Amino acid sequence: MKFSRVKIPGVQRIITCCSAKGGVGKSTTSANVALALKNRGHRVGLVDADITGPSIPTMLGVDHTQIETYRTAGTDRFCPASNFGIKIMSMGLVVPYDEAIAIRGPMVNKYIRALLFQTDWDELDYLVIDMPPGTNDVHITITQEVVLSGAVVISTPQQIALVDVRRGIDMFAAVNVPVLGLVENMSYYKCGKCDEKHYLFGNGGVKRCAAELNIPFLGEIPFVPQILSDTDAGYPPALRGDDTMEAAKPYYDLAKR
Ligand code: ADP
Repeated sequence: MKFSRVKIPGVQRIITCCSAKGGVGKSTTSANVALALKNRGHRVGLVDADITGPSIPTMLGVDHTQIETYRTAGTDRFCPASNFGIKIMSMGLVVPYDEAIAIRGPMVNKYIRALLFQTDWDELDYLVIDMPPGTNDVHITITQEVVLSGAVVISTPQQIALVDVRRGIDMFAAVNVPVLGLVENMSYYKCGKCDEKHYLFGNGGVKRCAAELNIPFLGEIPFVPQILSDTDAGYPPALRGDDTMEAAKPYYDLAKR
């Protein structure tokens, strides 16, 4: 199948961060990897493509009250929000965080195009797109209309999540978007009382899945309470720039790949 995909001017690489299911840590990983890339000296943007359930503004401490600054005067273009040195676009910058966002399919596509193409990104080394879960309108629009470097797929190790991972990967294959690799999130938990890794959702499921599908396995991220508390509070652990810290190291390792 041939698509007429376009580049975003000034943007070197566009990487989508995807998951088959919600709640597996896709936004957390996108936000922390974006910060790790920035701390490694890259110019980074982050698009929150979850139109009806945007989490990125909360995770990166920006909100709708700053929207006035985002319009480029006299045009239909936007200036992205910026915090911690990265550029951010999200529906969560347009709608207050406690207001419902109920939008039909064709309008979702309109908003996605605005976030990507009506935004003045300037020069970026990486634009990370935090996708909504599943394979829906947003995925079809983005994979068919944007020149992507590839997709990184996040999953937790349970069988129930992995079944849908295969579906997501089939979708990328159907539209010729390379899958850069699979990441296992919430792989294990270290309780602090012993040195053992406790495998909460089973051991090695995503690695095996990657091997079966002949896709690179990019790494595992443990369940670390600090990842949850800091990221949900708008101050992700990767901000500290310390890749020896348990809560930040996996994101710096991913940013190296
Ligand atoms: P998704 O984008 O896939 O829906 P989120 O990134 O919103 O998932 O993550 C869901 C919840 O899990 C959030 O509260 C987040 O802080 C938490 N979380 C994600 N990854 C981890 C992790 N490795 N350790 C601890 N908590 C995590």
